[in-house]
Amino acid sequence: MNLELSDEQTAVRELAEDFVAREIAPHVVEWDRAESVDRTLVKKLGEVGFLGLTIDEEYGGSGGDHLAYCLVTEELGRGDSSVRGIVSVSLGLVAKTIAHWGSEEQKRQWLPGLTSGEYVGCFGLTEPGTGSDAGSLSTRAVRDGDSYVVNGTKMFITNGTWADVVLLFARTGDAPGHKGVSAFLVPTDTPGLTRRTLHGKLGLRGQATAELVLEDVRVPASAMMAPEGKGFSVAMSALAKGRMSVAAGCVGIARAALDAAVRYATEREQFGKTIAHHQLVQELISDIAVDVDAARLLTWRVADLIDRGQPFATESSKAKLFASEAAVRAANNALQVFGGYGYIDEYPAGKLLRDARVMTLYEGTSQIQKLVIGRALTGVSAF
Ligand code: FAD
Repeated sequence: MNLELSDEQTAVRELAEDFVAREIAPHVVEWDRAESVDRTLVKKLGEVGFLGLTIDEEYGGSGGDHLAYCLVTEELGRGDSSVRGIVSVSLGLVAKTIAHWGSEEQKRQWLPGLTSGEYVGCFGLTEPGTGSDAGSLSTRAVRDGDSYVVNGTKMFITNGTWADVVLLFARTGDAPGHKGVSAFLVPTDTPGLTRRTLHGKLGLRGQATAELVLEDVRVPASAMMAPEGKGFSVAMSALAKGRMSVAAGCVGIARAALDAAVRYATEREQFGKTIAHHQLVQELISDIAVDVDAARLLTWRVADLIDRGQPFATESSKAKLFASEAAVRAANNALQVFGGYGYIDEYPAGKLLRDARVMTLYEGTSQIQKLVIGRALTGVSAF
């Protein structure tokens, strides 16, 4: 694996750094307190090409490889995890999945809007009763002539309130467990689909996370993506790549923690010298630095495997597991460096810790990643 960035990769990283400095950094505290990122940011993300990374230009994408995607995701995660999550879901879980699994008609219908930021996408898998055991979901789509009628509830859906389209997973037919799940692309203005924003989240407060209720929602049969009964494979392939994106976002959080901790430690004085002079403070900082590098290398390995067409799902689980736990450690260590000031939101460490915490929960909890890795190593499914 070549760790030297190409000219294009360097350019896209610099573009993302500049975007974060101009469009995100000045608003982070305000968005966190208001529990909403400025919606117009989505269009701006589309204009600079960040919502079209890895997608063919033919469908409005901006091309680039998965390492470039990781570089942008890391920068956005360093700026604001809520913004990073909007991209990871609308591009990473929805547009990229349509590009992989969608029919020509579905690609033409949705990709230009999703890549330009005209549309926002959301990923509807989790339900009130099924999280880790997603394959046993109970939302049901019943065939009726040329359409399906869908009933059910989806929970914790990132971008849910903003989204124009939901990649929805529902049970079709009588096949048991995950074999009976199919994927649909459902416009969110379809009659019968209602949304409720979930307020009071610990972190990612700028993101519109929602509950989606579907009551007799009629979708044409042409809205089904991939063959009937293949929906769970669609979801799992989306999440395997999605975990890389979460991991890259976690590297961004850990880097923000490192930058903030170093800056503060070299300014704040106690016992007649800056706290950077105290060895135990240096230990906190060096632990963060090692976590940043280790998480980034694991994440880049996944990008490299994808770009070379190699199997990557287990490596993606390893990267997501390590990077998410590392981001929590890094943000917590940074908070310790800030002392009492770490506990108020005028300083960044508290928000970094709140934003990091969910990374060990969604797209498969840390326990679920361990079971994925354990199954690959032993051949035994211990779910
Ligand atoms: P549960 O599955 O009930 O797990 C509870 C605990 O039990 C966890 O510690 C878990 O690790 C443990 N556990 C469960 N099964 C096992 C096992 N077999 N062995 C060992 N331990 C186990 N979902 C979407 O579909 N789309 C989204 O866009 C989305 N965005 C989200 C955004 C946020 C902010 C949050 C909080 C969640 C989001 N989710 C989304 C849902 C998320 O993926 C789930 O919360 C996650 O999969 C865990 O499911 P659960 O919350 O039901 O926990």
